[in-house]
Amino acid sequence: MLTEVIDQTKIDHFHKWLDKSEKIVIVAHVSPDGDAIGSSLGFYHFLRSKKKEVNIIVPNAFPEFLKWMSGAQDILFYDQNKDLADKLLSEADIICCLDFNALKRIDTMADAVKNASACKLMVDHHPFPEDFCGITMSYPALSSTSELIFRLISRMGYLDDISKEGAECIYTGMMTDTGGFTYNSNNREIYFIISELLSKKIDKDDIYRKVYSTYSESRLRLMGYILYSKMKVYPEYHSALISLSNEELKEFNYIKGDSEGFVNIPLTIKGVEFVVFFREDKDMIKLSLRSVGKFPCNKFAAEYFGGGGHLNASGGEFYGTMSEAIEIFKQGLKKYKPLLTAKK
Ligand code: 5GP
Ligand code: MN
Repeated sequence: MLTEVIDQTKIDHFHKWLDKSEKIVIVAHVSPDGDAIGSSLGFYHFLRSKKKEVNIIVPNAFPEFLKWMSGAQDILFYDQNKDLADKLLSEADIICCLDFNALKRIDTMADAVKNASACKLMVDHHPFPEDFCGITMSYPALSSTSELIFRLISRMGYLDDISKEGAECIYTGMMTDTGGFTYNSNNREIYFIISELLSKKIDKDDIYRKVYSTYSESRLRLMGYILYSKMKVYPEYHSALISLSNEELKEFNYIKGDSEGFVNIPLTIKGVEFVVFFREDKDMIKLSLRSVGKFPCNKFAAEYFGGGGHLNASGGEFYGTMSEAIEIFKQGLKKYKPLLTAKK
C-alpha cells in the first residue's frame, strides 16, 4: 500500500478540473531530462486514455536516449514551433507544469505559460516552488516527478488506465532521477510502485539498456579523455571538478547529451563527496553539481552560480571564462570546508 502523499483536497480539485476540460497542455523544463520526459509522457498516455486532447511542449530538444518512449515523437519544441505552441498554450483548459518549480526553468516559454488563461497544475519535487499555479503538488521528498504522476493517477482511482506504454515512461523517469535506483531511492514505496508497473508488463531490464547502453563511440572517448586529463581531485575538501571547453567538445564531435552522467563518475572515488562539472556552452559555462550525503550542492549552486536544484543534484550558469569559474569554485570550497569535512 502507498502512503497518501498528495493532499486529498488537491487531488479532488484537480479531478474537477479534469472532468470539465478538453484541451490539456503538458509543459516540462528546459533541456528536459528522463524525469521531465518520462513524467510528461506518462501523464500524456493517461490523459489520452481519458479522451482528452493532449500536447506536450518543452522549451528545447531532449537527448537521443529518451526518444524510444512511446509518444516522444509527438513532443513539440518551443524553440522550433513557437507559433503553434503559443496557440496551444493560449487555448488550453489546463496546463500541467511537470518537474519544475519556477517559471525561469522553462526559459523562453515562461511568458506564454504565465499569461495563459488555463487552470495550471504543478507536479514537482524540487524544493521552494514558486506560486504560479492554481494547484501546486510539490513534494521534494519524493524520488521523481514520475513517481508523483503515478501517485496522482492511482489516487484519482485510475490505476487500471495506466497502459504498458505509460508505465514504461513513468518507470524511466523514476529510474533516471535516481541514477538507476542508486540514490534518493530508499523509500520502500518506490519498489511497490515498480511492482505495479511491472504488472503492466514493462520490461525494466530492457528499459535500462535502452537508456544507459546506447552511447556513441565518441562519448566513450570523451569520457576517457575527461577522466585522464581533465579531472582535478581536492582530497582536503572531499571534492573534485571536471571541465570541458568548446574546443575540446568539438574535438570529440560532441553532441548534446554526450556528457550526461559524467558528473557522477568522480563520486565513485573513495572520499569524494562533492563534484562540479563545468561545460562551456554557447555564451556561458553550464554547471552540473552532485553530492552524496548531507552536503547541499543546491546551496553552493545558488550562492556562486545563480542556480539551484536538489540537495544532491543541482545546476547553474556562469558568464565568464573557465578559469574565472574555477577560481570561484575554489573560493566556494574554502568557505564550505567545514561542511565538506564534517564528521558523518
Ligand atoms: P543537471 O546537472 O542534470 O543538468 O541538473 C540537475 C538538477 O539541477 C536539475 O534537476 C535541476 O533541478 C537543477 N538545475 C540544473 N540547472 C539549473 C539551473 O540553471 N538553475 C537552477 N535553479 N536549477 C538547475
Ligand atoms: Mn525530476
